[in-house]
Amino acid sequence: MTASLQDAIPPIVAAGNFLHAQGLAPATSGNYSLRLGDGNIAITVSGAHKGRLTDSDVMLIAADGTPLENKRPSAETLLHTQIYDLFPTARAILHVHSRPGVVLTRVMRGNAIVLQGCEMLKAFPGIHTHATSIALPVFDNSQDMQALSQEVAQRIRADLPAYLIREHGFYVWGQDMPAAERSAEALEFLLWCELQTLQAQTGARA
Ligand SMILES: [Zn+2]
Repeated sequence: MTASLQDAIPPIVAAGNFLHAQGLAPATSGNYSLRLGDGNIAITVSGAHKGRLTDSDVMLIAADGTPLENKRPSAETLLHTQIYDLFPTARAILHVHSRPGVVLTRVMRGNAIVLQGCEMLKAFPGIHTHATSIALPVFDNSQDMQALSQEVAQRIRADLPAYLIREHGFYVWGQDMPAAERSAEALEFLLWCELQTLQAQTGARA
């Protein structure tokens, strides 16, 4: 368990470097957090480039999102505190702007993306076979975090590893930062495969 802000900074900075190298942190997008042992949360500040995070780009907030330092936390802080509130085992959250996630949720207007049949599904916690299917919720994008969080509360579940926001990106969470990173990398892979499949099928029909 991460004990203090100082303990949380290295894994959060490393997550930014990792995700940026994967193309998942363009143009200051995304936000990352870790829940500490005392219930407070270490989270990236608003506006920092996630591929070039420094120690001062990570700050402390209370469990309800109240800043505990004279800095401005991510604009999407409420979506982090909500996941921690709902899922006691969640200790790390990554939000990234996924290219295939943006395109897929632009062309597929439903309120879920179904992932099935792919070996990579086993990267998610609790999944031990490719022969399964998960429906990740998709929520319409909004700048109103209260409204968006109310939508999210109605459809996220502890047995799902993630949700998507339309034409925006996705949220993943895990029991620690490596677990959240694994889910982020796996989901990006799976969304890319979905997009490529859609393109191949469209090309085959043309
Ligand atoms: Zn975002």
